[in-house]
Amino acid sequence: MKNEEKNLSPAEEPELIKNVGSLQELLRRASGMSAVSETELEDAGIAENIPFPFLALVDQTEMKLALLLSLVNPNLGGVLLVGPRGTGKTTAVRSLIDLLPKTKRSLCFYGCLEEDVEAGGMDAVCPDCAEKFGHGEPLSRLEKVRLVELPLNSTMEDVVGGLDPRAEVHDRMRLKRGILSRADRNLLYVDEVNMLTDQVVDAILDAAAQGQYTVRRGAMSATYRSDFTLIGSMNPEEGRLRPQIMDRFGLRVIVEGLKEKADRLNAYQRSRAYQENKRAFWGRYWEETRLLRDEIQACRDGLNEVELPDQAAQKGLELIEALEIDSLRAEITLFESARAYAIADSRKEVTLEDVRAVAPMALRLRQSPFIEDYLHDQNSETELVLDTLDGLITGSGGGE
Ligand SMILES: [Zn+2]
Repeated sequence: MKNEEKNLSPAEEPELIKNVGSLQELLRRASGMSAVSETELEDAGIAENIPFPFLALVDQTEMKLALLLSLVNPNLGGVLLVGPRGTGKTTAVRSLIDLLPKTKRSLCFYGCLEEDVEAGGMDAVCPDCAEKFGHGEPLSRLEKVRLVELPLNSTMEDVVGGLDPRAEVHDRMRLKRGILSRADRNLLYVDEVNMLTDQVVDAILDAAAQGQYTVRRGAMSATYRSDFTLIGSMNPEEGRLRPQIMDRFGLRVIVEGLKEKADRLNAYQRSRAYQENKRAFWGRYWEETRLLRDEIQACRDGLNEVELPDQAAQKGLELIEALEIDSLRAEITLFESARAYAIADSRKEVTLEDVRAVAPMALRLRQSPFIEDYLHDQNSETELVLDTLDGLITGSGGGE
């Protein structure tokens, strides 16, 4: 967006532009912000894709928190949003466009990075990049993370790539990059993930697990870097998701419609204001959006310093054991999201409270009985996770 400086007069400045203590604080304050119905900004009439501001989404705290944590820590395994149509899942994901942090991006077709040489020597990059590296030239630059969407009707060819009929004779270059390769170091959003073919879903999940994938077409093959944060959404009324696919997602959020009448009215008013003049509505939130984006970047940069003390780790492991969850991904998501939660609160050490804050998102829908009928059991499963942990903390052996 080009108009980084917005033109609101001081009287119209939203009230919450004050010192921001943390990402969580900003999120809490901004979500309660009331909609203003008039504005002096003109609709420029340009058919740009202006996202609905993330901070203008009413309530849906857990969904927003999960999405923010996934921006802060790409290693927590992504997010799955489960809920009926019209609950704002896609709007929320697209609103992340204004919040995306920067990341190192390769300048090369094959995605070679300096760290590949550091980890695997010159053979780990293509010959061109090996030569560049030898001359001390950069292989990458800092670039904004992008939101890449995988359309529902995508074919395997679209997803992994294939033969490029227009390409020249250079063998490897005759292969065309697919969506998965373009998703490298980006966010990959897959709406209606439960409606994709098994073949496509398997390709996505394999790439997500390995951080790369190989395409073979006859005598040709190419390996592409494909290290992305996966965000999926699904309407459970339209079909189930295989448990092994469900398992690959890190955080799981049950998205429900707004319950409070005041929230529903607020959401309606904001949606109307957005439709009437998207640029103006977007501009009203820009200052806070920019603060939140900077906060996310700072959290991401500081994440490496966040420690997981033994006590918090032990309780987390006990919780997973007590809930009889087998998947090893449960620990990764629980601890990585707790680390992101801690840095979002400007702390360098994970506490039990951090573990508690993320445990329902990290652990729900990981027990097979609940996967079968989660629409009915979503609340009881959240309670079970929290009660079990509370029992473990107070030593009363809950969850037995
Ligand atoms: Zn290269």
